[in-house]
Amino acid sequence: MKKYSVGIDIGGTNIAVALVTADGKIKSKIKFPTKINRGEEIIIDEIVWKVSRVVRSGPVKSVAGIGRGAAGFIYYEEGTIKFSPNMFHREVPFVSMMNEKIRSRGDKRLLGLPLYFDNDANVAAWGAYQMDVPKTVENLICVTLGTGVGGGIIIDGKIYHGADGYAGEIGHIILNPDGPKCNCGNYGCMEKYVGAGSIVERTLREIKRGRRSMIEKLVNGRLEDMTTKTLYDAAKRGDELANEMWKNTGRCLGISLAGIVNLLNPEFIVLAGGVAKAGDLILSPMRRTIKEHANTYAAKAVRCIISKLGDNLGVVGAALLVRQKDAKSF
Ligand SMILES: [Zn+2]
Repeated sequence: MKKYSVGIDIGGTNIAVALVTADGKIKSKIKFPTKINRGEEIIIDEIVWKVSRVVRSGPVKSVAGIGRGAAGFIYYEEGTIKFSPNMFHREVPFVSMMNEKIRSRGDKRLLGLPLYFDNDANVAAWGAYQMDVPKTVENLICVTLGTGVGGGIIIDGKIYHGADGYAGEIGHIILNPDGPKCNCGNYGCMEKYVGAGSIVERTLREIKRGRRSMIEKLVNGRLEDMTTKTLYDAAKRGDELANEMWKNTGRCLGISLAGIVNLLNPEFIVLAGGVAKAGDLILSPMRRTIKEHANTYAAKAVRCIISKLGDNLGVVGAALLVRQKDAKSF
């Protein structure tokens, strides 16, 4: 068995490329900003160049393949990004463009390596399935909590893609059809209650309404500097408003997930992404809400955890895509 594979995690802000061992350890990693304004040609060219570099850091003949995860609506069968709200606003035939770049560079180490491609939340779910849960687990849900809220589903040990690869969009489950407008065009999506920007926005509204909070002091009066990290710090120091916000966020997440628990009876729910760093502040109210609102037996069966891989879940999950059985490669 080949010892390494390459993972690529393409996000709206940063791209990470890493050489990863078969058991999910990072051997070398490069992180660089996503130059969205310069167009996809330049971005893909830079990715291929960095892939060459990380491959060079390990024994060349030992690389099993390259896996990539990207944010957005991915047409899995073709390896095409249909639309990516924070990156590409038109269709990008990502896999064929990348293959073309590899061919034109003529790097022998990359030519002929199988390529895997998937949505970033599916990749995170695959990473969590490989790294965060016991080997006996075959069914899990992964929720990536950041600016956006993504979801990936593992059923019977495989990524569940649905008919065309668009399954798992947990963030766009409607919590309130009369709620605020979402980036996807719909109203009251879960993302509008649980996404990082929305949490901060809601808190800001409360402070402007006159609620007292130590948050103002923590950002030296510059409320525009508030992030979910500020809210975490405030909550840990006992701030009432910050604690209320996390409780509320965990509850919104729990309500959406209670429906999913009823539908799919997963063994694990794994939270990942920047907002998941809030740990128990979000996990406890989420667990409580699932217990209250999901079917008693399904709620008892599910265990809710935070991924231990932190920011590396995407890149490790992408590299481990080579371990999927019967997966489509290009
Ligand atoms: Zn939405």
